[in-house]
Amino acid sequence: MNPFAYRNGILHAEDAPLPHIAVAHGTPCYVYSRAALTAAWQEYQDALASQGVGERSLVCYSVKANSSLAILNLFARLGAGFDIVSGGELARVLAAGGEAGKVIFSGVGKTRAEMEQALAAGIRCFNLESAAEMRKLDEVARAHGAQAPIAFRVNPDVDPKTHPYISTGLKTAKFGVPIEEARDLYRRAADLRGLNVIGIDCHIGSQLLDPAPAAEAAARMIALADQLAADGIVIKSLDVGGGKGIRYRDEKTPGVADYLAPMLKALAGRKEQLLFEPGRSLVGNAGLLLTQVEILKHGADKNFAVVDAAMNDLMRPALYGAWHDILTVRQTNEQTNGAMREYDVVGPICESGDFLGKERKLALAEGDLLAVMSAGAYGMSQSSNYNTRPRAAEVMVDGDAMHLIRRRESIADLFAGESLLP
Ligand SMILES: *Cc1c(COP(=O)(O)O)cnc(C)c1O
Repeated sequence: MNPFAYRNGILHAEDAPLPHIAVAHGTPCYVYSRAALTAAWQEYQDALASQGVGERSLVCYSVKANSSLAILNLFARLGAGFDIVSGGELARVLAAGGEAGKVIFSGVGKTRAEMEQALAAGIRCFNLESAAEMRKLDEVARAHGAQAPIAFRVNPDVDPKTHPYISTGLKTAKFGVPIEEARDLYRRAADLRGLNVIGIDCHIGSQLLDPAPAAEAAARMIALADQLAADGIVIKSLDVGGGKGIRYRDEKTPGVADYLAPMLKALAGRKEQLLFEPGRSLVGNAGLLLTQVEILKHGADKNFAVVDAAMNDLMRPALYGAWHDILTVRQTNEQTNGAMREYDVVGPICESGDFLGKERKLALAEGDLLAVMSAGAYGMSQSSNYNTRPRAAEVMVDGDAMHLIRRRESIADLFAGESLLP
């Protein structure tokens, strides 16, 4: 579904005109569609049901893609589990009504305090990423008279063919344990009283467009599960990670069913529970960043549209060179087309890397509203206060209702925790 479309020349989010949101809540502002979030969730449920694995599957939304409470709450209401990477994300999930029993905890550097917090909450599984982490969790669990449910995140050494910063399953990555060392680690873990081995985990990267690498990774996990069975170690769940890509520009993105089909074929006939950790594909296309043109700078060689959103609000272009479509909220017509120029759309931050889009053909006037599309994932959750800029407001649209789900930060919020020297 496309939740963002023009009606009478004005871009809407579902039934809400974006100019109304700008008037009510200001800019920059993230705008999400409840219907699009729900549809993305349902696409996973339908794909799994149609392959006959709905009953033994649990989709754990990867919280870091967008950790706003209202979004977590929406997924919790839909029955989601959650994939977390910090104690802070666990606290968010619980505050949003998520069930601890459906939480899996990934990440290479869990602290003792985070381990204790997650054990006390009673999470479903710790995904361990090293031998050192295994020993540490065993110690923490025994000190609390507990047994921690664990999986190892294995590194299957398949190339997901994505951006190097979001490719995680190669031998050279900091993530996971090499799959050839996993068997030995599992044997050691099975002997530790503080640990309860339940699964195998894997996550090879993000914005994956080709389903083959994930299917190959699943095949390697199954081979490992069979080796472990021969050692008397029973694997109850296989966690195949997240990573399905979305369309930002003209990428050929398979639907969820097509993306999962080769992997589920590899997993056919197995008894293990299946866990999925999608982030981007659940939220990415369900959100946009609404911003206003502050200044137009026309030069001999270059034109700049300086807008009120910046790299602190949406870091992906600066961090990954990512491309986001940028639409004028007022649709351009034949008349305005004549006034089109090529613009770099930039923020006011004092960094040359502060851009949202380069060389875009747009007809603009100061005060115009722009929508930076496909900004629902790794947008707000990566935002910062660089240049002492308050973080944006967030609005969730539901039909024609506009719910403010996070108020814009105030300047006072920004230095509330600071103090002067005595
Ligand atoms: C980030 C992450 C995900 C989600 O990846 P997407 O590409 O957003 O689907 C899943 N699992 C782990 C361990 C991650 O770090």
